[in-house]
Amino acid sequence: MARFTGPIDLHLHSNHSDGTEAPAEVMRQAHAYGVRTAALTDHDTTSGWAEAAEAASDLGMTFVPGMELSAKHGWRSVHMLAYLVDPSDAALLAECARIRDDRIGRAERIVRNIARDFDLHWDHVLAQTTGDATVGRPHIADALIAQGIVRDRTEAFEGILHPRTGYYEPHYAPDPFTAIELILGAGGVPVMAHPATVSRDHMLPVAVIDELVDAGLAGLEIGHRENTERGKKALQKIADRRDLIVTGSSDYHGAGKPNRPGENTTTDAALARIVERATGNAPSFP
Ligand code: AMP
Ligand code: ZN
Ligand code: FE
Ligand code: FE
Repeated sequence: MARFTGPIDLHLHSNHSDGTEAPAEVMRQAHAYGVRTAALTDHDTTSGWAEAAEAASDLGMTFVPGMELSAKHGWRSVHMLAYLVDPSDAALLAECARIRDDRIGRAERIVRNIARDFDLHWDHVLAQTTGDATVGRPHIADALIAQGIVRDRTEAFEGILHPRTGYYEPHYAPDPFTAIELILGAGGVPVMAHPATVSRDHMLPVAVIDELVDAGLAGLEIGHRENTERGKKALQKIADRRDLIVTGSSDYHGAGKPNRPGENTTTDAALARIVERATGNAPSFP
């Protein structure tokens, strides 16, 4: 028997990180696209949960509190979805604060690099961020758009913001083992986001994914538009072999990306497994 009302979309961003809409609007958009159970998963912050939960309740939707924790394995950026964590967990809060703080200095460094060649200043980026939003390259992209330097975020990411173009700077992030430990410590369920983007070469080696599973990684986000078909097959093999939770999600960013709510979905059974494992938090039902 289904416990959760579908369609289920477990990966959406608001303007508390780099989405373009407030949390309540994200829930309204998800509802308009037919989604009935939604998670808010802003980067490195849980500050949008209260507003999203209230809006979801008004819309008759089930709300799943989540976050997308930034991590890094060597040079590879790894995003760890953290479902149902206790938002007051001291260790997780401290790490998120450290990442968010470093993201600000990093964005300033990227802007200084770009300012050598283009008319772009830190104030232009600040004008594109809301409150204490987690600052990322998408905000710099929006500033580049406002300055008439690029047309949209996609053009910015393919050009000026691409690591190979020379303006890029990294930000602090914990390794994925630490990320998993923090999420588990906060009673949450770690699911690796879009593990096979761009090409198979950008996927973590299978041996490393196995080590992450040994460390407590619970699931893989296989249904994601940026995972390659080849990558999805490889990931499904690992999921079958290790009995991992498999999710599918949109990674909606409002107007910032073409991804639409509900374009990939998660099964009721997969969400039930996530909820069963969590000790830090629970979904809110309408
Ligand atoms: P950052 O964490 O600051 O390095 O920026 C990464 C963020 O940018 C992720 O949340 C992505 O969703 C977003 N992003 C990556 N590529 C694109 C793109 N082509 N268009 C819009 N957003 C993107
Ligand atoms: Zn994002
Ligand atoms: Fe991500
Ligand atoms: Fe995301």
